[in-house]
Amino acid sequence: MKINSLKIQGFKSFSNHTLLEFDHGITAIVGPNGSGKSNILEAIRWVLGEQSYSLLRSKKSEDVIWAGSPGKPRAGMAEVEISIDNHDKSIPLPYEEISITRRAYRSGENEYLINGRKARLRDVQEIGAIIGESFTFINQGSVDEVLLISPEHRTVLLEQAADITHHFKRRDETLKRLAEVEDNLRRVEDLLNDSR
Ligand code: ATP
Repeated sequence: MKINSLKIQGFKSFSNHTLLEFDHGITAIVGPNGSGKSNILEAIRWVLGEQSYSLLRSKKSEDVIWAGSPGKPRAGMAEVEISIDNHDKSIPLPYEEISITRRAYRSGENEYLINGRKARLRDVQEIGAIIGESFTFINQGSVDEVLLISPEHRTVLLEQAADITHHFKRRDETLKRLAEVEDNLRRVEDLLNDSR
């Protein structure tokens, strides 16, 4: 899975249509203070269905819409579109490229599209959860944080970054099923002993 591109228009400081194309490997976003680096990460969170406005450094839906500047009027709508390469079918949809769009209007209404079709927030969040397992977005300050946290917490972060968390989930599910099977076996043995 790979994020191919991000289109931003009217979201936070991005008043103009902005297209970011991503390559393979690590992507670093650099720029002067206040130039919108964090807004790019927030655009990714937002388009994938983020509902927590505090995580988006906002209070309400309208706050993410371009608020205007002396030379440029405010926007009526914020729109972000993310395109994901799905050749490996990590996302269980029959498309080789998946695009997710989120729009927010000043009325507070939000709408979601998957490959151009209206979609439910839940569907977008499910895709977001799969993408979240494959990518690590490191905010400013997180590097210091990583160095200061406990070794246990750091291990969890490294596991997430190495994309092995879902293997642990599968292992836990399998162990649970195994325990159920062993339980059933014990019950069968008890029944057999009782009938002897
Ligand atoms: P730093 O390096 O200082 O953390 P940064 O490059 O990460 O900065 P951001 O925090 O992404 O920058 O962007 C902050 C800018 O976004 C501020 O100038 C702020 O006024 C602007 N901004 C945020 N929301 C809106 C909005 N709704 N409309 C217009 N501008 C906005």
